Amino acid sequence: TSKQSVTVIGLGPMGQAMTRAFLAAGHPVTVWNRTAARAEELAAEGATRAATVEAALAADELVILSLTDYDAMYAVLEPAASALAGRVLVNLSSDTPAKAREAAVWADGHGARHLTGGVQVPPSGIGRPEESATFYSGPREVFETHAATLQVLTATDYRGEDPGLAALYYQLQMDIFWTSMTGWLHALAVAGANGISAGEFLPYATSTVASLPGFLAFYTPRIDKGEHPGDVDRLAMCAAGVDHIVHTARDSGTDATLPAAVQDAFRRGLADGRSGDSFTSLIEVFKGSNS
Ligand code: NDP
Repeated sequence: TSKQSVTVIGLGPMGQAMTRAFLAAGHPVTVWNRTAARAEELAAEGATRAATVEAALAADELVILSLTDYDAMYAVLEPAASALAGRVLVNLSSDTPAKAREAAVWADGHGARHLTGGVQVPPSGIGRPEESATFYSGPREVFETHAATLQVLTATDYRGEDPGLAALYYQLQMDIFWTSMTGWLHALAVAGANGISAGEFLPYATSTVASLPGFLAFYTPRIDKGEHPGDVDRLAMCAAGVDHIVHTARDSGTDATLPAAVQDAFRRGLADGRSGDSFTSLIEVFKGSNS
Protein backbone atom coordinates (compact mmCIF):
# COMPACT_ATOMS: atom_id res chain seq x y z
CA THR A 1 0.00 0.00 0.00
CA SER A 2 1.08 3.57 -0.60
CA LYS A 3 -0.66 4.96 2.49
CA GLN A 4 1.59 6.13 5.33
CA SER A 5 1.87 3.60 8.14
CA VAL A 6 1.02 4.80 11.64
CA THR A 7 1.57 3.68 15.22
CA VAL A 8 -1.18 4.31 17.77
CA ILE A 9 -0.22 4.11 21.46
CA GLY A 10 -3.16 4.19 23.88
CA LEU A 11 -6.33 2.29 23.06
CA GLY A 12 -9.02 3.91 25.14
CA PRO A 13 -12.23 4.80 23.28
CA MET A 14 -10.32 7.51 21.37
CA GLY A 15 -7.30 5.44 20.36
CA GLN A 16 -9.58 2.62 19.24
CA ALA A 17 -11.66 4.99 17.09
CA MET A 18 -8.46 6.45 15.62
CA THR A 19 -7.05 3.02 14.81
CA ARG A 20 -10.28 2.03 13.07
CA ALA A 21 -10.35 5.28 11.07
CA PHE A 22 -6.79 4.72 9.84
CA LEU A 23 -7.52 1.09 8.95
CA ALA A 24 -10.70 2.09 7.11
CA ALA A 25 -8.68 4.61 5.10
CA GLY A 26 -6.12 1.96 4.17
CA HIS A 27 -3.28 3.03 6.48
CA PRO A 28 -1.28 0.16 8.02
CA VAL A 29 -1.52 0.58 11.81
CA THR A 30 0.66 -0.78 14.60
CA VAL A 31 -0.90 -0.57 18.08
CA TRP A 32 0.27 -0.83 21.66
CA ASN A 33 -1.68 -0.50 24.91
CA ARG A 34 -0.73 -1.02 28.54
CA THR A 35 -3.66 -3.38 28.98
CA ALA A 36 -2.85 -5.65 26.07
CA ALA A 37 -6.32 -7.19 25.84
CA ARG A 38 -7.64 -3.91 24.45
CA ALA A 39 -5.65 -4.52 21.25
CA GLU A 40 -7.23 -7.91 20.48
CA GLU A 41 -10.28 -6.76 18.54
CA LEU A 42 -8.23 -4.24 16.60
CA ALA A 43 -5.74 -6.96 15.65
CA ALA A 44 -8.64 -9.03 14.33
CA GLU A 45 -9.65 -6.00 12.25
CA GLY A 46 -6.20 -5.70 10.68
CA ALA A 47 -3.97 -3.77 13.11
CA THR A 48 -0.53 -5.13 13.97
CA ARG A 49 0.09 -5.59 17.68
CA ALA A 50 3.49 -4.50 18.95
CA ALA A 51 4.77 -6.63 21.83
CA THR A 52 6.63 -3.74 23.43
CA VAL A 53 6.61 0.06 23.37
CA GLU A 54 10.05 -0.08 21.71
CA ALA A 55 8.64 -2.22 18.90
CA ALA A 56 5.68 0.13 18.51
CA LEU A 57 8.05 3.11 18.19
CA ALA A 58 10.35 1.25 15.82
CA ALA A 59 7.48 0.35 13.49
CA ASP A 60 6.63 3.85 12.23
CA GLU A 61 7.91 7.41 12.07
CA LEU A 62 4.43 8.75 12.84
CA VAL A 63 3.31 7.88 16.38
CA ILE A 64 -0.13 8.88 17.64
CA LEU A 65 -0.45 9.11 21.43
CA SER A 66 -3.97 8.83 22.84
CA LEU A 67 -3.44 8.57 26.58
CA THR A 68 -5.31 9.98 29.56
CA ASP A 69 -2.84 12.82 30.02
CA TYR A 70 0.82 13.73 29.63
CA ASP A 71 1.85 11.92 32.82
CA ALA A 72 0.64 8.72 31.16
CA MET A 73 2.86 9.54 28.18
CA TYR A 74 5.96 9.74 30.40
CA ALA A 75 4.93 6.51 32.14
CA VAL A 76 4.78 4.77 28.74
CA LEU A 77 7.66 6.41 26.85
CA GLU A 78 10.34 7.15 29.50
CA PRO A 79 11.33 3.47 29.79
CA ALA A 80 11.56 3.28 25.97
CA ALA A 81 13.17 6.70 25.47
CA SER A 82 16.10 5.29 23.51
CA ALA A 83 13.67 4.30 20.72
CA LEU A 84 12.35 7.86 20.30
CA ALA A 85 15.01 9.27 17.98
CA GLY A 86 13.59 10.23 14.59
CA ARG A 87 9.96 9.74 15.61
CA VAL A 88 7.16 12.27 15.25
CA LEU A 89 4.95 12.16 18.35
CA VAL A 90 1.44 13.43 17.69
CA ASN A 91 0.13 13.84 21.20
CA LEU A 92 -3.67 13.78 21.13
CA SER A 93 -3.95 13.44 24.91
CA SER A 94 -5.52 16.41 26.71
CA ASP A 95 -3.51 18.45 29.19
CA THR A 96 -2.40 22.00 29.93
CA PRO A 97 -0.39 24.27 27.61
CA ALA A 98 2.49 24.16 30.11
CA LYS A 99 2.58 20.34 29.99
CA ALA A 100 2.58 20.45 26.18
CA ARG A 101 5.50 22.91 26.10
CA GLU A 102 7.48 20.74 28.53
CA ALA A 103 6.77 17.65 26.45
CA ALA A 104 8.05 19.31 23.28
CA VAL A 105 11.35 20.07 25.02
CA TRP A 106 11.47 16.55 26.45
CA ALA A 107 10.85 14.96 23.02
CA ASP A 108 13.49 17.19 21.45
CA GLY A 109 15.97 15.99 24.05
CA HIS A 110 15.41 12.44 22.79
CA GLY A 111 15.70 13.37 19.10
CA ALA A 112 11.94 13.20 18.51
CA ARG A 113 9.57 15.92 17.36
CA HIS A 114 6.31 16.69 19.12
CA LEU A 115 3.01 17.94 17.74
CA THR A 116 0.37 18.88 20.27
CA GLY A 117 -3.23 18.07 19.43
CA GLY A 118 -6.54 19.08 20.96
CA VAL A 119 -9.33 16.85 19.69
CA GLN A 120 -12.66 18.69 19.67
CA VAL A 121 -14.97 15.71 19.25
CA PRO A 122 -15.85 12.49 21.07
CA PRO A 123 -14.81 9.12 19.60
CA SER A 124 -17.93 9.05 17.41
CA GLY A 125 -16.56 12.11 15.55
CA ILE A 126 -13.27 10.40 14.63
CA GLY A 127 -13.03 9.45 10.95
CA ARG A 128 -15.50 12.21 9.96
CA PRO A 129 -13.22 15.10 8.96
CA GLU A 130 -16.11 16.89 7.24
CA GLU A 131 -17.77 17.47 10.61
CA SER A 132 -15.00 17.40 13.23
CA ALA A 133 -11.73 19.19 13.92
CA THR A 134 -8.56 18.99 15.99
CA PHE A 135 -6.28 21.86 16.99
CA TYR A 136 -2.58 21.29 16.26
CA SER A 137 0.54 23.21 17.23
CA GLY A 138 4.27 22.67 17.03
CA PRO A 139 6.83 22.76 14.20
CA ARG A 140 4.97 23.87 11.05
CA GLU A 141 6.97 21.70 8.65
CA VAL A 142 6.31 18.60 10.76
CA PHE A 143 2.60 19.40 10.79
CA GLU A 144 2.51 20.01 7.04
CA THR A 145 4.36 16.78 6.29
CA HIS A 146 1.76 14.73 8.17
CA ALA A 147 -1.40 16.83 7.76
CA ALA A 148 -2.92 14.63 5.04
CA THR A 149 -2.62 11.52 7.22
CA LEU A 150 -3.94 13.34 10.31
CA GLN A 151 -6.93 14.50 8.25
CA VAL A 152 -8.10 10.89 8.14
CA LEU A 153 -9.09 11.41 11.81
CA THR A 154 -10.64 14.89 11.75
CA ALA A 155 -10.12 18.19 9.96
CA THR A 156 -6.95 19.91 11.15
CA ASP A 157 -6.68 23.44 12.52
CA TYR A 158 -3.01 24.43 12.86
CA ARG A 159 -2.71 27.20 15.46
CA GLY A 160 1.03 27.93 15.37
CA GLU A 161 4.56 26.90 16.35
CA ASP A 162 4.15 27.31 20.13
CA PRO A 163 3.48 23.73 21.32
CA GLY A 164 1.13 25.07 24.00
CA LEU A 165 -1.32 26.62 21.52
CA ALA A 166 -3.35 23.54 20.60
CA ALA A 167 -3.80 22.72 24.28
CA LEU A 168 -4.66 26.35 25.03
CA TYR A 169 -7.37 26.61 22.36
CA TYR A 170 -8.80 23.32 23.61
CA GLN A 171 -8.84 24.53 27.22
CA LEU A 172 -10.43 27.86 26.22
CA GLN A 173 -13.27 26.00 24.55
CA MET A 174 -13.61 23.70 27.56
CA ASP A 175 -13.72 26.76 29.85
CA ILE A 176 -16.81 27.95 27.97
CA PHE A 177 -18.23 24.44 27.68
CA TRP A 178 -18.10 23.52 31.36
CA THR A 179 -19.17 26.86 32.80
CA SER A 180 -22.10 26.90 30.34
CA MET A 181 -23.11 23.30 30.90
CA THR A 182 -22.97 23.61 34.69
CA GLY A 183 -25.04 26.81 34.39
CA TRP A 184 -27.63 24.82 32.47
CA LEU A 185 -27.59 22.03 35.08
CA HIS A 186 -27.99 24.54 37.89
CA ALA A 187 -31.01 26.09 36.18
CA LEU A 188 -32.48 22.60 35.81
CA ALA A 189 -32.04 21.99 39.55
CA VAL A 190 -33.96 25.19 40.28
CA ALA A 191 -36.54 24.24 37.65
CA GLY A 192 -36.89 20.77 39.20
CA ALA A 193 -37.34 22.25 42.68
CA ASN A 194 -40.29 24.12 41.18
CA GLY A 195 -41.81 21.09 39.47
CA ILE A 196 -40.50 21.83 35.96
CA SER A 197 -38.73 18.92 34.25
CA ALA A 198 -35.62 19.17 32.08
CA GLY A 199 -37.74 18.11 29.12
CA GLU A 200 -40.32 20.82 29.72
CA PHE A 201 -37.60 23.42 29.98
CA LEU A 202 -35.59 22.22 26.93
CA PRO A 203 -37.04 24.64 24.35
CA TYR A 204 -36.38 27.59 26.67
CA ALA A 205 -32.85 26.48 27.51
CA THR A 206 -32.22 26.02 23.81
CA SER A 207 -33.45 29.50 22.93
CA THR A 208 -31.18 31.05 25.56
CA VAL A 209 -28.14 29.18 24.27
CA ALA A 210 -29.07 30.02 20.66
CA SER A 211 -29.12 33.73 21.55
CA LEU A 212 -25.47 33.66 22.71
CA PRO A 213 -23.71 33.91 19.29
CA GLY A 214 -25.43 37.26 18.69
CA PHE A 215 -24.10 38.59 21.99
CA LEU A 216 -20.61 37.25 21.26
CA ALA A 217 -20.56 38.92 17.85
CA PHE A 218 -21.82 42.24 19.29
CA TYR A 219 -19.40 42.46 22.22
CA THR A 220 -16.25 40.96 20.64
CA PRO A 221 -15.02 44.07 18.74
CA ARG A 222 -15.60 46.20 21.85
CA ILE A 223 -13.62 43.79 24.00
CA ASP A 224 -10.76 43.77 21.49
CA LYS A 225 -10.70 47.58 21.64
CA GLY A 226 -10.78 47.51 25.45
CA GLU A 227 -14.01 49.53 25.37
CA HIS A 228 -16.88 48.75 27.74
CA PRO A 229 -19.48 51.49 27.25
CA GLY A 230 -22.66 51.15 29.27
CA ASP A 231 -24.88 52.05 26.32
CA VAL A 232 -26.80 48.78 26.05
CA ASP A 233 -26.16 47.22 29.45
CA ARG A 234 -24.85 48.60 32.72
CA LEU A 235 -23.04 46.51 35.30
CA ALA A 236 -25.25 47.85 38.11
CA MET A 237 -28.38 46.64 36.28
CA CYS A 238 -26.79 43.26 35.48
CA ALA A 239 -25.58 42.81 39.07
CA ALA A 240 -29.14 43.34 40.37
CA GLY A 241 -30.25 40.66 37.91
CA VAL A 242 -27.62 38.22 39.16
CA ASP A 243 -28.75 38.89 42.75
CA HIS A 244 -32.24 37.78 41.69
CA ILE A 245 -30.85 34.51 40.32
CA VAL A 246 -29.08 33.79 43.62
CA HIS A 247 -32.22 34.59 45.62
CA THR A 248 -34.42 32.47 43.35
CA ALA A 249 -32.03 29.53 43.81
CA ARG A 250 -32.00 29.94 47.62
CA ASP A 251 -35.79 30.46 47.81
CA SER A 252 -36.12 27.18 45.87
CA GLY A 253 -34.01 25.36 48.45
CA THR A 254 -31.25 24.66 45.92
CA ASP A 255 -27.50 25.15 46.20
CA ALA A 256 -26.59 28.67 45.06
CA THR A 257 -22.80 28.26 44.95
CA LEU A 258 -22.59 28.60 41.18
CA PRO A 259 -24.58 31.84 40.69
CA ALA A 260 -23.01 33.17 43.93
CA ALA A 261 -19.58 32.86 42.24
CA VAL A 262 -20.94 34.94 39.35
CA GLN A 263 -22.44 37.38 41.85
CA ASP A 264 -19.03 37.70 43.51
CA ALA A 265 -17.44 38.73 40.20
CA PHE A 266 -20.16 41.33 39.60
CA ARG A 267 -19.73 42.72 43.13
CA ARG A 268 -15.99 43.08 42.62
CA GLY A 269 -16.71 44.94 39.37
CA LEU A 270 -19.00 47.33 41.23
CA ALA A 271 -16.39 47.77 43.97
CA ASP A 272 -13.87 48.69 41.23
CA GLY A 273 -16.17 51.55 40.19
CA ARG A 274 -17.54 49.97 37.00
CA SER A 275 -21.27 50.28 37.77
CA GLY A 276 -21.91 52.47 34.70
CA ASP A 277 -19.87 50.30 32.32
CA SER A 278 -20.98 47.21 30.45
CA PHE A 279 -20.82 43.82 32.13
CA THR A 280 -17.95 43.12 29.70
CA SER A 281 -15.78 45.32 31.95
CA LEU A 282 -15.70 42.27 34.26
CA ILE A 283 -12.94 40.98 32.01
CA GLU A 284 -10.69 43.36 33.96
CA VAL A 285 -11.78 41.63 37.20
CA PHE A 286 -10.95 38.25 35.63
CA LYS A 287 -7.57 39.53 34.42
CA GLY A 288 -6.85 40.42 38.02
CA SER A 289 -6.07 44.05 37.13
CA ASN A 290 -7.66 47.13 38.66
CA SER A 291 -7.26 49.40 35.68
P1 NDP B 1 -9.01 7.05 28.36
O1 NDP B 1 -8.60 7.73 29.61
O2 NDP B 1 -10.15 6.12 28.36
O3 NDP B 1 -7.79 6.26 27.67
C1 NDP B 1 -6.74 6.10 28.39
C2 NDP B 1 -5.61 5.39 27.67
O4 NDP B 1 -4.47 5.83 28.38
C3 NDP B 1 -5.73 3.90 27.81
O5 NDP B 1 -5.11 3.31 26.70
C4 NDP B 1 -4.92 3.65 29.10
O6 NDP B 1 -4.35 2.37 29.15
C5 NDP B 1 -3.84 4.69 28.93
N1 NDP B 1 -3.19 5.06 30.19
C6 NDP B 1 -3.64 5.88 31.16
N2 NDP B 1 -2.75 5.98 32.15
C7 NDP B 1 -1.69 5.23 31.79
C8 NDP B 1 -0.45 4.93 32.38
N3 NDP B 1 -0.08 5.46 33.56
N4 NDP B 1 0.39 4.10 31.72
C9 NDP B 1 0.04 3.58 30.53
N5 NDP B 1 -1.11 3.82 29.91
C10 NDP B 1 -1.97 4.63 30.53
O7 NDP B 1 -9.18 8.22 27.36
P2 NDP B 1 -9.91 8.33 25.94
O8 NDP B 1 -9.51 7.25 25.03
O9 NDP B 1 -11.36 8.61 26.15
O10 NDP B 1 -9.23 9.69 25.49
C11 NDP B 1 -7.85 9.81 25.24
C12 NDP B 1 -7.47 11.28 25.29
O11 NDP B 1 -8.30 12.00 24.39
C13 NDP B 1 -7.66 11.91 26.68
O12 NDP B 1 -6.60 12.80 26.93
C14 NDP B 1 -8.94 12.68 26.54
O13 NDP B 1 -8.99 13.80 27.39
C15 NDP B 1 -8.89 13.08 25.07
N6 NDP B 1 -10.22 13.34 24.55
C16 NDP B 1 -11.23 12.43 24.78
C17 NDP B 1 -12.50 12.69 24.34
C18 NDP B 1 -13.57 11.69 24.59
O14 NDP B 1 -14.74 12.03 24.36
N7 NDP B 1 -13.27 10.47 25.00
C19 NDP B 1 -12.83 13.93 23.62
C20 NDP B 1 -11.70 14.78 23.37
C21 NDP B 1 -10.45 14.49 23.85
P3 NDP B 1 -5.16 1.13 29.78
O15 NDP B 1 -6.10 0.65 28.71
O16 NDP B 1 -4.09 0.16 30.11
O17 NDP B 1 -5.88 1.65 31.00
